[in-house]
Amino acid sequence: MNGKISKSLSVENAKELLNSVDAFLFDCDGVIWKGEKLIDGVPETLDLLRSHGKKLVFVTNNSTKSRKQYAKKFHSLGIPVNEDEIFSSSFAAAMYLNVNDFPREKKVYVIGEEGILEELEQAGFTALGGPADGKKNIELKSDSLFEHDKNVGAVIVGLDQYINFYKLQYGTLCIRENPGCLFIATNRDAVGHLTDLQEWPGAGCMVAAICGTTQKEPITVGKPSTFLMDFLLQKYNITTSRMCMVGDRLDTDILFGQNAGCRTLLVFSGVTNESNYEDLSKEVKPEYYTNSIADMLKYI
Ligand code: PLP
Ligand code: CA
Repeated sequence: MNGKISKSLSVENAKELLNSVDAFLFDCDGVIWKGEKLIDGVPETLDLLRSHGKKLVFVTNNSTKSRKQYAKKFHSLGIPVNEDEIFSSSFAAAMYLNVNDFPREKKVYVIGEEGILEELEQAGFTALGGPADGKKNIELKSDSLFEHDKNVGAVIVGLDQYINFYKLQYGTLCIRENPGCLFIATNRDAVGHLTDLQEWPGAGCMVAAICGTTQKEPITVGKPSTFLMDFLLQKYNITTSRMCMVGDRLDTDILFGQNAGCRTLLVFSGVTNESNYEDLSKEVKPEYYTNSIADMLKYI
């Protein structure tokens, strides 16, 4: 859709979209909820789409929770969603190792939170690091080395509220001292809505720290990566032109959909709004835009 003019969603084009699409891929934060707060009209909109026989898939870059934890969050907000309809960047990281036959005898060092640890455990991988290492302090000694496990074959970096000097040193040594060690970023979002009123540093800054110390670039598995889309497509067997990606961020959600040839809908219920849209949409333009997915209730 780049280069073409984006259109505001209307009765006519919403009906056309509904008739031409078999699956809707929803970004979560800014589309379904904002932090812990449900966006108005979302459960009714999802019910409406399901009643039209549409497949619904939920794709989030927030790696702090596992799919199981996200399913609980959906249920607590009154939205019935199955674990297998959720694709989080924490799950994507574990699946990247899985599809690339990462040896089960090797270990994974995690700069990140519980969601990544749970997904790794579920997939049968051994993880080190995570929140537990947030309590560790470094003693700088001139007569001994900082030790790390030489059997670590991958370092996964996601949002980590407990990041410290210990973890930076650990992750860096794993990557620098073992040229075969994978460096995986769950996502590179600059900021995230950890609370509904405010943005906070996102995984992008933790990833940038490890890029800085290792001088290496990671494999990114969350949006807008093609890995996540290819994985999802294998599971659902739906033609991308009959899928619509709905999101609030142009550089992750809309790009993710567009790269795969999906229809795209940008909503103004998250980080992009009517006032910053002109500025933000210079490089990536959605096919349609509207205030919130709840507008579909009016148009369909
Ligand atoms: N990462 C973190 C830490 C977040 O808090 C958020 C949103 O709140 C995101 C990523 C983006 O999540 P999503 O892809 O659901 O918009
Ligand atoms: Ca979002």
